[in-house]
Amino acid sequence: MNWLYASLGVAIAAFVMTWLRLRRSRRQADDFAREAGEMRETLAQQRTSHELDRAAMAEIVDMVGQGILAVSTKARVVVANRRVAEMFETSGDLAGRLVVEVIRQQSVVDAIDRALRGQPSSGRLSFDERRIEVRAFPVAASPEIAAVALFNDVTTIERLERVRRDFLDDFSHEVRTPLAGLKSAAETLERGGLAREQEQQLQHVMQRQIGRIERLVHDLADLNQIETGQLTLHRRNVHLREVLNELADDYRFALRGEDPVAFVDPARALQVFANLLDNAQKHGGGEIAVELAQDSGEAVVRVCDEGAGIPPADVERIFHRFYRVDRSRSQPGAGLGLAIAKHLVALHGGVIRAYNRAGGGATFEVRLPAADA
Ligand code: ADP
Repeated sequence: MNWLYASLGVAIAAFVMTWLRLRRSRRQADDFAREAGEMRETLAQQRTSHELDRAAMAEIVDMVGQGILAVSTKARVVVANRRVAEMFETSGDLAGRLVVEVIRQQSVVDAIDRALRGQPSSGRLSFDERRIEVRAFPVAASPEIAAVALFNDVTTIERLERVRRDFLDDFSHEVRTPLAGLKSAAETLERGGLAREQEQQLQHVMQRQIGRIERLVHDLADLNQIETGQLTLHRRNVHLREVLNELADDYRFALRGEDPVAFVDPARALQVFANLLDNAQKHGGGEIAVELAQDSGEAVVRVCDEGAGIPPADVERIFHRFYRVDRSRSQPGAGLGLAIAKHLVALHGGVIRAYNRAGGGATFEVRLPAADA
């Protein structure tokens, strides 16, 4: 009987052990299932956040002012932002397409080729009247992207650089002449031994040259003030005949026509007309006439002279700063007067133009907004 109890005890113990092991392994299985579920969830979350990152990155890359193009080892587009599509006038989804299909500029394709062979490069290319700066370089750290090209539209910057260069050239050219006159007069005076009359003559020369420099600086300051929008107009309804009458003491001209009333700043209108009369006297000649008219919502002033007129090719250019038809002519003036006049008229919402009359002589026509009713 004893052996029976013993075997029963062993069997019960075995059963209990097995049951315990089973329970443990079931718990382990549950734990494993739970862990697997959690991992799946984390992975899903990571994937979503990765996708969100990609979308955010695409949006950010699109916002950048530069063109950004990332390509694979096979020269296929991986990322191209909106600027690239705008600059190279391509549309649709560029991802996956070959660079040569997307960008027709050979120099860009070559730069990307070089970058794919590990060689960075930079340069500027011109097309459609634009200047684009291109920089291409290899990328080593990404399995997907092998090279990146960056595009920068430098058209405006280059134009401003040119304007600045031209301006400095013109300015130093304009200052050099009166300065040379001043220097030689001062040296002659310093040497001494001059008759009273000669001294007076030299002083007169010096004053004239100083006047030229002063006028140049004053005109430039004026132009700068207008161009940077710092000039405030004090506009009111003004009889243009009255404005022109104020100039009668300084200039000889005949005043004809109606008495238009314009909505202008009288001091600035006077400045424009004084400049035109000054030019008519200086560059034109003969009898000078000012014609006034009221023409459907506009007050019109025409300053006419009987000089040689303006060469047809220069009719537009004379309004550019520092432009003079004949640079060698020793006429006073730096070529800023008409540039200032054009800006002032435009500021009033009017227009100024020049033309030659059939009978000879130049006419400058100014159209200004008529009186505010
Ligand atoms: P400036 O008189 O100082 O030279 P402006 O800007 O007033 O500068 O004029 C620019 C140029 O336009 C002059 O140098 C001249 O060549 C030309 N011009 C202006 N007015 C006349 C005119 N009435 N007749 C012929 N040429 C003119």
